[in-house]
Amino acid sequence: AVPVTVISAIGSASRFGVIVKSGAAFERLGAVRRVVFDKTGTLTRNVPEVVAVESADAGSSDAALIAAAALEMRSTHPLARAIVAAVPTGQLPVAQDVTEEAGRGLAGLVDGVRVRVGSARWLLDAEGDGGLVSAAERLASVGMTVVVIELDGRASTVIGIRDELRPEAGETVATLRAQGIEVALLTGDSARTAEALAHTAGIAEVHHEQLPTDKARVIEQYRRTATTAMIGDGINDAPALATADVGIAMGQTGSAAALESADIAFVGTDLRQLPRAIAHARRGLRIMT
Ligand code: ADP
Ligand code: MG
Repeated sequence: AVPVTVISAIGSASRFGVIVKSGAAFERLGAVRRVVFDKTGTLTRNVPEVVAVESADAGSSDAALIAAAALEMRSTHPLARAIVAAVPTGQLPVAQDVTEEAGRGLAGLVDGVRVRVGSARWLLDAEGDGGLVSAAERLASVGMTVVVIELDGRASTVIGIRDELRPEAGETVATLRAQGIEVALLTGDSARTAEALAHTAGIAEVHHEQLPTDKARVIEQYRRTATTAMIGDGINDAPALATADVGIAMGQTGSAAALESADIAFVGTDLRQLPRAIAHARRGLRIMT
């Protein structure tokens, strides 16, 4: 049976927006020694915006962006929203044969042109292509997510997409560390982008270019050395949330599946709920023993 003190502590947690699903989850929360953050939608606001467009041939940016947006009309990825929003409405051609590869991007046909839109790792070669490699590095080093547009097998354009850190991210990381907790970041994004954002948030440990199954494997490794919590929005990180000792689903942006399978769910999106909930669980467990 769940002790009465735990039931009462779970009740008071719910009053500050933290829903704990079971007594066992509450006890594991109090024992957490490592917290792993998903990037997109968790550490960041998930309001991605295209803020830079650079092409190998001057003047071809608009056509490339329209072709990319035509493909992204078919995707539910957060980046797709940003790319579609960057194009004036009412001028999108219809894309054919569109396929999406998780963690990479999209391919299809637009007005007879073969188009691919996705990560620099997938679509940019280290050599050549008219300054696109250095453009991609420059955008990533200031924390932008880089998306490359390829037309008929040739890299054409680099897009920089900004998704701002949540304003309380740095404070939250500092509080967790003061609680003796190690903090890490887990993302499908590139090394440079992830490291730039992690640096701003005060996180030293970064796992980049992780596919959903890779993310679960990282959590599995971490669990061997410390009780590990993973906090995410369920998009691309559902297996990792399920693998963690304590899976925490962000409120509002969180997918229904994540809310369902998580041990703990936040009602809102304020990251400070996390150190607050851990302190609360530690107190609750001390009272019990
Ligand atoms: P995250 O972990 O940040 O949610 P993903 O694993 O979904 O990232 O994607 C990794 C990278 O693959 C993105 O940063 C982007 O470069 C590329 N990518 C994935 N899906 C798309 C898409 N629909 N359109 C453009 N690029 C994409
Ligand atoms: Mg994601």
